[in-house]
Amino acid sequence: MRAQVLQEFNKPYVPKEIDKPGPPQGKDILIRVKAASYCHTDAVFAAGSMWQDLPRVGSHEFAGEIIALGPDVDAKLGLSIGVDVGVPGRAYRPCGECYECRENDGDPEGYGVWCTKAGNLGLTRDGGFEEYALADSRQVAPMPDGLTAVDTAPLMCAGVTIWNALEVAGVNLRGGDNSGFSVAIIGAGGGLGHLGVQFAVKLGCKVIAVETGDNALKLLDKVKTGLGKDSDQVTIVDAGSTTPEDVRVQVFGTPESSLEGEKGAHGALILPESQQAFDFGMKLLRNHSTCVTVSFPIDGFRLQPRDLVFRHIKLMGVLVGRNRHLRAMLRFAAAHGVRAHVVTYSLERLNDLVRDYHQGASGKLVVDMEKR
Ligand SMILES: [Zn+2]
Ligand SMILES: [Zn+2]
Repeated sequence: MRAQVLQEFNKPYVPKEIDKPGPPQGKDILIRVKAASYCHTDAVFAAGSMWQDLPRVGSHEFAGEIIALGPDVDAKLGLSIGVDVGVPGRAYRPCGECYECRENDGDPEGYGVWCTKAGNLGLTRDGGFEEYALADSRQVAPMPDGLTAVDTAPLMCAGVTIWNALEVAGVNLRGGDNSGFSVAIIGAGGGLGHLGVQFAVKLGCKVIAVETGDNALKLLDKVKTGLGKDSDQVTIVDAGSTTPEDVRVQVFGTPESSLEGEKGAHGALILPESQQAFDFGMKLLRNHSTCVTVSFPIDGFRLQPRDLVFRHIKLMGVLVGRNRHLRAMLRFAAAHGVRAHVVTYSLERLNDLVRDYHQGASGKLVVDMEKR
């Protein structure tokens, strides 16, 4: 079968014919890949900045059709041959015994999304840049009607992570009223950010979408226009020319003297790795609010404990999400027209995709297996 294999760090992928995976064992399923998306983590991995070995077929967010099921796949998962599924790179074959696997808050029995003994597709196991891939039946979700494989793939890492981050920030994802809730998204014009803006608006929130740089701001304008009548819930902020203090006054009005902490966002999502992004987000928050960071800069963030202590701000981290997040996010995206802005490439042109990614292409870059 056709595949793109990373054989050396800091080198292009190598197009190759490799063996198709054998019949799925245990709880595994075999998938004919239809679309596979490129994530920032693929770039970090290809640069040799992680700990996993080569050679490897990348992509941990993809989608395709089930063509075979292992003998132990649980019927309760609703998976069968011919069903299209989205595949996130969460736990592949977790241990089933550790704390994550036992205390899993409603995920399938013995399945721990954050099990540290599990494999990860695209990192420790081959991922989606190939014609056929194995996945763990418990890590996937059926694609709802209305979403294509190209729509679904970029939601499998970016989508589920930002959805979970919105919940952690305090947004009600279960149909509650969010009209009084404001969320600041720092890095709103990136892969996760532009999905977060759409989800938050469609969930009823007021959104402060913070970005710098022409490409990302242009994408944000497009996203805002695409929201139609809901677009007035979004304030786009160019962090290069606006201070957080100005943004607070612009969005929430001038506070009474000494009561600045009463005006500001209820939640902030920090998506870029820069200290400026972290500081900008913290400054937009009101007292008793929540700062959620999804990025993990190698040198860390410097934080002001005074903010956490005197202003009672909670600081939380988020990585992907549980099956309930995954399935709810997909249903919501299908029902409310939330879509990543994508550019598609054939599998053969994966290295062009990578070049465009490093040149700052906006939105999500996706391999469409039907494209030649
Ligand atoms: Zn990812
Ligand atoms: Zn485990």
